[in-house]
Amino acid sequence: MDLKSGYPYWTVRDGLVAAFPPLDSDIECDVAVIGAGITGALIARELADAGLDVVVLDKRDAGWGSTAASTALIQYEIDPGLVGIAGRYGERKAVAMLKACEVAIDELGDIARRVPGSAYRRAESLYYASWPWHAGAVREEGERRVAHGFSLDILERDALRERFGIDASAALLTHVAAEIDPYRTALGILQALARKGTGVFDRTEVTAIEAGSRRVVVRTDRQASVACAHVVVAGGYESATFLRQRVARDHSSYVLVTEPIAHLPAWARRTLVWESRRPYLYMRSAGDSRLIVGGEDDRVDIPAKRDRAVPRKAARLLRKLRKLLARDDIETGFSWAGTFAETDDGLPFFGPHPERGPRVHFAMAYGGNGIAYSVVGAKLIRKRILRESHPLARFLSFERLR
Ligand SMILES: Cc1cc2nc3c(=O)[nH]c(=O)nc-3n(C[C@H](O)[C@H](O)[C@H](O)COP(=O)(O)OP(=O)(O)OC[C@H]3O[C@@H](n4cnc5c(N)ncnc54)[C@H](O)[C@@H]3O)c2cc1C
Repeated sequence: MDLKSGYPYWTVRDGLVAAFPPLDSDIECDVAVIGAGITGALIARELADAGLDVVVLDKRDAGWGSTAASTALIQYEIDPGLVGIAGRYGERKAVAMLKACEVAIDELGDIARRVPGSAYRRAESLYYASWPWHAGAVREEGERRVAHGFSLDILERDALRERFGIDASAALLTHVAAEIDPYRTALGILQALARKGTGVFDRTEVTAIEAGSRRVVVRTDRQASVACAHVVVAGGYESATFLRQRVARDHSSYVLVTEPIAHLPAWARRTLVWESRRPYLYMRSAGDSRLIVGGEDDRVDIPAKRDRAVPRKAARLLRKLRKLLARDDIETGFSWAGTFAETDDGLPFFGPHPERGPRVHFAMAYGGNGIAYSVVGAKLIRKRILRESHPLARFLSFERLR
């Protein structure tokens, strides 16, 4: 699968941060993690922290999958919203999920602060009603969250215009959010692990997972294998190749980074912005006077078609951004597209699948909040492997599909 079109901003800005060797001999460990993206890095870190002997394998250069293409808005307010999840699974589970993602924002901050260049910054998140007839649902989402102790303001049209210059009927201003450089963060975590003895091998494709009752053998295209007690499949959207059951659907999302914007308002440097229509426009600062803007999602999962669509989609994103900020002097610097997968309910899957047995754990952090999900999933998978309980283990397992 070709996961992205063009060169995303992070890879251009950061350059080649780290290189890892391929696997060239048979090895043994406690846990083999397939995938050296942000999910695999966070999971490997958790497991190594628990004292386990961990090996990470990636078929590309580490970090070069979806992680490099991500816009990395870190939010607890997941796409279906508290109202949407509660309607399907009940208020208790919905609140637990949002709270776990809220906590994940600070946890990611603690991890990222030890990674040079992670560019982690706390931010606010503004969610506005795209149309006047969405305002009621936006307010209801805000009121329900406030009732459960989430910190946010419900803004009406005048306040929104005055503080952000955005013209919409209502919006939620959430005080807990962040932004990060996902590529640099993933590589930084992996480099730190490698320095402490974790085996990180890239350009090594896992071709088969042979799970027995006592151990698992991971075969690779390098004629070298890994024998271990557990495997974690953190292969991003390609994890699906290890399952017959289809658990998610692939989409494409399109992104542009602007050229530096003169007199960028101060709020735009510290506010993530998204909206109630689907697919939504999403925006964050690039850490300087550039903005990163994404959206225009479609169901295209044919890379050549997605590649061809980038200029047209980027032009539409630019038009929308200019309209939102009421400025016609904003220009595109870089644009790209990436595949992302979404589950039917917008929630991730973490844990074993019946097709592969209890020693093979899947980490499918799928959805618009994939990175916050990965932080939650890393802790959950650690608990599972250590045979400890986690409050979301059952809810985020494949049991949801039954
Ligand atoms: C355009 C775009 C915008 C996004 N914006 C946001 C956002 O604002 N906020 C947010 O939270 N999330 C966002 N996401 C989602 C987020 O980027 C993903 O959740 C995250 O990058 C997934 O990381 P990962 O490590 O699971 O996957 P990846 O980064 O794809 O890593 C998986 C790795 O597994 C490797 N692999 C796969 N199969 C094998 C195999 N057989 N053998 C060896 N290695 C294998 C791959 O080479 C890859 O490097 C966005 C995604 C895209 C594409």
